[in-house]
Amino acid sequence: MRFTMKRILTGIAFVVCISSATFATTPDTDVLFQTSTINALLEGVYDGEVKCGELKHYGDFGIGTFQALDGEMIFVDGTIYQVKADGKVYNVADTVKTPFASVTFFDTDVSYTLQKTTNFQQLCTYLDTLIPTKNIFYAFKIEGTFSYLKTRSVPAQQKPYPVLTEVTKNQPVFEFQDIQGVIIGYRIPPFADKINVPGYHFHFLSSDKTVGGHLLEMETNKANIAIDYTHRFYLSLPEESAFYTTDLSTDKTKELEKAEK
Ligand SMILES: [Zn+2]
Repeated sequence: MRFTMKRILTGIAFVVCISSATFATTPDTDVLFQTSTINALLEGVYDGEVKCGELKHYGDFGIGTFQALDGEMIFVDGTIYQVKADGKVYNVADTVKTPFASVTFFDTDVSYTLQKTTNFQQLCTYLDTLIPTKNIFYAFKIEGTFSYLKTRSVPAQQKPYPVLTEVTKNQPVFEFQDIQGVIIGYRIPPFADKINVPGYHFHFLSSDKTVGGHLLEMETNKANIAIDYTHRFYLSLPEESAFYTTDLSTDKTKELEKAEK
């Protein structure tokens, strides 16, 4: 009897040991990792601490910006691309820092084919019908040919940094016709405003990887939509003086609307 009990206990200990080892070594791909907050970016906190090489530990997919607000980040299939203010795509060294980025390992949970003429607003409305709840994070990869597409980028800033709405007043805008590529980005639940952009936020990269940017408008009649449901969120805050001293308690909804549109 005692022997049996001992065997059972040993068995339990063994199982616990195995499962904790599995937990420690398997990367959790269902996490949205983010550095800094959208309100810090709106307030002009453009000096980053996290290097692009480090982002690759937390994902293979994402969007963001670069040190001193030097353009738009598109992180897709493990490669980070930079769309500078000239609208062109540049390769990014792992040592380049970012003041704001959100990344994840993209695993498709569900996919759909969009087969009717759809603009940006209609796309967002359609995506809302595909998701099971508005209360979790979602990553999207939307591949297709776009009869029309409009993006913007932002130029690198000098200190003292202006707030984001000052920068985007004169943002360079780029328009394309019949362009093939991928739209990537997120739906952030409204309760996470101040931290990230609530609702939909997308960036674009052309298939030939020559042009892209922060998506402002688009039209397509056929696209493949892949959705990654994301239940966990990891926020990494900068140990940096501008972040420490900026007032992040105020409501920036109007500024965010101006900066993102
Ligand atoms: Zn953006």
